[in-house]
Amino acid sequence: MNTLGKLLVSIQKLSIGISHRILPMVSAVNGDVVSSTGALASEHWQELEFLTGSLCYRCGYPMEQFCPPETWCGTCNANEPDIYRTRSALVYSDMSRRLILNFKHGGRVDNLTVFSNWMQGAANEILSQPAVLVPVPLHLFRRLHRKFNQSALLSGSLAKSCKLQHKPQWLIRQRNTQSQGFKSTKNRQENVKGAFRVPDKYLEQIKGQRIILIDDVRTSGATLEACAKTLLVAGAGQIDAITLARIVKTQETSK
Ligand SMILES: [Zn+2]
Repeated sequence: MNTLGKLLVSIQKLSIGISHRILPMVSAVNGDVVSSTGALASEHWQELEFLTGSLCYRCGYPMEQFCPPETWCGTCNANEPDIYRTRSALVYSDMSRRLILNFKHGGRVDNLTVFSNWMQGAANEILSQPAVLVPVPLHLFRRLHRKFNQSALLSGSLAKSCKLQHKPQWLIRQRNTQSQGFKSTKNRQENVKGAFRVPDKYLEQIKGQRIILIDDVRTSGATLEACAKTLLVAGAGQIDAITLARIVKTQETSK
């Protein structure tokens, strides 16, 4: 990001709301001045890939061909997920990765509403029924280091715009797991096994609830599945999930 961009973002972080009216906006990708919050230069827009068209009914994987709405992908057919439906706004690509890293590690929370609007657009069906939004939690040490949980910011913003309940305290990460990057699917599952817990004082409230898990990126789905399993064991009724982006790897699809 150039020096002007860094300066504008710093000022906007200090005085969101006021500065937006008097200072130019900065691209969510780099330091370029743009017309509105969350806007990108046209060449960056072209590189973003929104997940539309035929998707696996369960995990939201993009199908290669047009399919009836309730079609499952090969992976879900082979191993039914605990999460009923997952939807994501973007394919995790170089460009969406830059957006998310700027948000998560660069503190670009000024784009939060734009991101949650994209997620709402991708998951209208899931969000149109009564539900409680629960973010994938960070371990306390990681949250203190980062100063915020990016998933909780996304779930808070979505809950507000969709007028749904937001309960970030219902799920905690009791073990500070290693990063899931560069691990195989099996190792990712092992890494997050037993990592999450519902505090005893919320067990009664969770019983029978429809819960929507919120995360920034779905990689293999192992973290979301571990969260879902924990909530279901605690008595939740149904679990759906929404993420800002998802990794799309080639898989063998069947009906
Ligand atoms: Zn699937």
